[in-house]
Amino acid sequence: MQKVLVVGAGFMGSGIAQVSAQAGYQVHLMDIQSVITDRALKEIRWSVEKLATKGLLKEPSQKVLERIVPKKDLLSASEADWVIEAAFEDEKLKRDIFKELDQISRPETPLATNTSSIPITRLAENTKQPKRVLGLHFFGPVPLMGLVEVVKGEKTSPEIFERGVAFVQSLGKTPVRVQRDIPGFVMNRIFSAALREAVDLVDQQIASPEDVDSGMRLGYGWNAGPFEIADNAGLDTCVRISKTMRSLGADHLVSSSNLMERMVNEGSLGRKSGKGFYKYSPEGKRLTRENG
Ligand code: NAD
Repeated sequence: MQKVLVVGAGFMGSGIAQVSAQAGYQVHLMDIQSVITDRALKEIRWSVEKLATKGLLKEPSQKVLERIVPKKDLLSASEADWVIEAAFEDEKLKRDIFKELDQISRPETPLATNTSSIPITRLAENTKQPKRVLGLHFFGPVPLMGLVEVVKGEKTSPEIFERGVAFVQSLGKTPVRVQRDIPGFVMNRIFSAALREAVDLVDQQIASPEDVDSGMRLGYGWNAGPFEIADNAGLDTCVRISKTMRSLGADHLVSSSNLMERMVNEGSLGRKSGKGFYKYSPEGKRLTRENG
């Protein structure tokens, strides 16, 4: 059985671990504290059991769950066939993780990052073999979203890039090939342009988040509006992405208002903190004016 090491057990890492286990991979899910991996395993159990109830799993949920083993360090990178990094969107942190992974893992193991905005080439700079570093940019919630961008860094080898495409397909997801390494890749650049405008309009009180979101759903056929997507992704993550985009010269994709920074400073991080552009119950259910 092929082994996947997922680094970071937050919103994205736990989802990547889950879909990898569902596809039959043996998964090691690593984070810096066991309280975080415990929480991730609880959330994965809830999600897998929900899929089983709906008849969407090929095998009993317990079998999937047994394939995921929590870890507190990166040592198991030595036995991994794939490594996928999904830690905080922080360039220094990711560079340090890649440096360590490069030393521990076998030289043929592809090292992937789920970064939303940092160029792959920069994260690969600290490694001896940048040809095996690539982007696998999943979308959240990972178990429900069918898309993964496969991103080629300047030095990623064509063989590793194609292995990335095949790995994504093995998870039952559709790959979008990003042939050049630019900040935000393709999908986040397009989404950031919409979110930038939406945030500015709301901060100027021209429209409410509810109205913008229903407008995008009903007028443009989006499944969710920009504020619903931002709340799900985490406003702290959105702010980190904006900072990276700005620092890499993609200012035109960042809103001129600092509304999201103000919200993050007040502890409004979106669904995970119970409050963002919307309010949520402790179980993460969105509260409406009627039930909130
Ligand atoms: P998150 O805050 O939910 O999780 C990040 C996790 O990284 C935390 O559990 C944290 O403890 C862990 N971490 C911190 N330092 C670590 C270390 N040294 N080693 C291992 N783990 C460490 O964030 P997230 O939303 O899961 O985002 C993770 C990555 O995925 C980011 O790069 C983000 O930009 C990207 N991403 C996020 C989304 C989204 O919708 N949230 C979508 C696509 C990509």
